[in-house]
Amino acid sequence: MALKIQEIKQQGFEKVLSAEDLESGLSAIIAIHNTNLGRACGGIRMLPYGSHSEALNDVLRLAKGMSYKSALAGINFGGGKSVIIGDPSKKSPALFHAFGDFVETFKGKYIAAKDMNIGSSDLALVKQKCRHVLGVEGEPGTSGDPSPVTAYGVFRALEATIEFLTGSKKMNGLKVAIQGIGHVGYSFAEYIKKVGGEIWVTDTNMETVEKAQKELGAKFVALEEIYDLNCDVFAPCARGAVLNSETIPKLKYKAIVGAANNQLATPKDGIRLHERKILYAPDYAVNSGGIINIFIESQGYDRNQALNKTEEIYRTIKEVFERSQKTGKPTFEVADQLAEERLYGKK
Ligand code: NAD
Repeated sequence: MALKIQEIKQQGFEKVLSAEDLESGLSAIIAIHNTNLGRACGGIRMLPYGSHSEALNDVLRLAKGMSYKSALAGINFGGGKSVIIGDPSKKSPALFHAFGDFVETFKGKYIAAKDMNIGSSDLALVKQKCRHVLGVEGEPGTSGDPSPVTAYGVFRALEATIEFLTGSKKMNGLKVAIQGIGHVGYSFAEYIKKVGGEIWVTDTNMETVEKAQKELGAKFVALEEIYDLNCDVFAPCARGAVLNSETIPKLKYKAIVGAANNQLATPKDGIRLHERKILYAPDYAVNSGGIINIFIESQGYDRNQALNKTEEIYRTIKEVFERSQKTGKPTFEVADQLAEERLYGKK
């Protein structure tokens, strides 16, 4: 191994290292934000970043996000993340082996999992070089596809939201618009169908839309029309930054509950929603079923245990809404405050 590892000092972060390996072409950064609650866990993201500093900004933002997500979910994981700077179409076993050597240098303080552009087979290659990897699908004792658990959490968040708005958990006739009917979106839609809700869907992939139309009776809307619908709940389940200065003024929804990460383009957009009295269930609380699933794997996997822990998202979302109502603060700020209380023991 000829890994060249360098420390990047960052205020507010426990450890940030970059690694270069000429032989395999690896260029990567691993950031540990905080381990107050436990070992740092977070996915590996592979992207052709425009520059090293762009990759650094991304990994820092994501690692901090993981500290908050795990803290708010009530699991004993710290926050960390890694990025591999490179074209995902140019993967090789040597690249992931070199990355595995890099993860191993953290001696278990960082646990790697999947994220954008990283498949189970890539993760399995990392695991050949390093013990600190979770979420390899298909191996005995691993947690498998997290999407059904994440979707269950999104549904529990929806229940909490509806109960807060109406005083009842009844969802018969509830109109929900789902942006992105992929792994999580589809499974979430199945829950809505079961309780008698009505579903609208949009997706760039018409195959999955047609399946939802046929099997769930979902109604199709064009991509941009989702922002103009007259439904009760908007569920972003595709990509980030969809709640922004252009979309928010159009929205007629009463609430937003979805699985996508980083739904707010900027914090100002959380304030915009608050001012428009659109109840926003903070994304990282709503979609924490995925990290909960991985955490349960770290303890010896049991799907029921993962679902039971995910069930707590209901209580967390209600707590966020109740505190927001009491203090007048936007829900995204309240969520951060609750996470920090657990992370730093502040009261
Ligand atoms: P997925 O890729 O299976 O589904 C995403 C769907 O969105 C796809 O069907 C895709 O065609 C569609 N899509 C892409 N661009 C779109 C656009 N512009 N408009 C409408 N649809 C579009 O992904 P997933 O695993 O279902 O995850 C969905 C979101 O939830 C992602 O943002 C992911 O980061 C987040 N998330 C997922 C998990 C999990 O357990 N899978 C956990 C936490 C967060």
